[in-house]
Amino acid sequence: MITGKTQLLGVVGHPIEHSLSPVMHNAALEALGVDYVYVPFAVAPEDLAAAVEGFQAIGIRGFNVTIPHKQTIMPLLASISDLAQAVGAVNTVCWTEQGWSGTNTDVEGFVAPLRSFSQDWNQSKAVVLGNGGAARAVVAGCAQLGCSQVQVVGRNAEKLQDFAHSWENSPIPVNLSIHSWDELPRLLPEAALLVNTTPVGMAPHPHASPLTIADLQHLSPHTIAYDLIYTPRPTQFLQQASAQGAIPIDGLEMLVQQGAVGLKLWLQRAVPVEIMRQSLLAYLGEAAKGNLKGDDR
Ligand code: NAP
Repeated sequence: MITGKTQLLGVVGHPIEHSLSPVMHNAALEALGVDYVYVPFAVAPEDLAAAVEGFQAIGIRGFNVTIPHKQTIMPLLASISDLAQAVGAVNTVCWTEQGWSGTNTDVEGFVAPLRSFSQDWNQSKAVVLGNGGAARAVVAGCAQLGCSQVQVVGRNAEKLQDFAHSWENSPIPVNLSIHSWDELPRLLPEAALLVNTTPVGMAPHPHASPLTIADLQHLSPHTIAYDLIYTPRPTQFLQQASAQGAIPIDGLEMLVQQGAVGLKLWLQRAVPVEIMRQSLLAYLGEAAKGNLKGDDR
């Protein structure tokens, strides 16, 4: 029940109607029995500064930031964590005595499911497909794990070069190299971790895969194949990689874990991760039946 004391959390993006964050956050808030509500805010790029001022005026405790505001919000904040600076994007904002403080929980969200592997990451190479926004969180995550090398594969040489340059004086040291797609047959046999950060295979194109059948034959059987996509589950890429003996991880856990880290920051207490996970599974189950459209955060 919303009362006179109810406090506000939310997510700002444009568009925002397909965001899954309200589902998992409100499920968690209800389970905790705290007097908070999490609301989606559709804010056009030209209105972002006014919205952030307005959030302060109405006393919002914290909010998530999604496409297209993850970079443009940065100059509007009083402080930004080193991690978010290194990634170049903020996805979580907290109100503090000094003003709005931004961080990036995608990195911890990405790393969380990998922590359960007893992998010697210092001896492990990671291959990252794609060099967009999510790839930045993945590279930071691979650096946190301690991967010996992170090989980023992209289709646009200029964008790849810019991507590599952006890590040169980063607060997060990473041994990064950039590669074209035709180098995959050489890279895949040594990849301990292969991450798809491209949208290839995402609904409504569930039969697409970022790897060709010929590429897949070079995949080592014990590779961890990680797809950031969470609709469909599993993707074509994960199905193909599993058939080669790889260990699959889909994007749902990253989504849940990045949300859990943010909620913990806002509430300063432990949060019910399993309830967040189950709320999303139930919601995406409905989406798969065609009743809902769950293709965004
Ligand atoms: P983005 O910034 O647009 O980056 C997409 C990257 O994929 C770019 O490097 C792009 O290459 C490449 N790409 C796109 N289509 C391609 C194709 N047909 N072949 C080869 N490369 C292609 O998007 P993003 O924000 O990083 O998101 C990427 C994916 O990650 C989405 O599916 C998103 O839903 C998912 N994601 C999941 C989570 C999670 O919590 N699970 C979090 C964030 C993102 P160019 O630069 O050359 O165009």
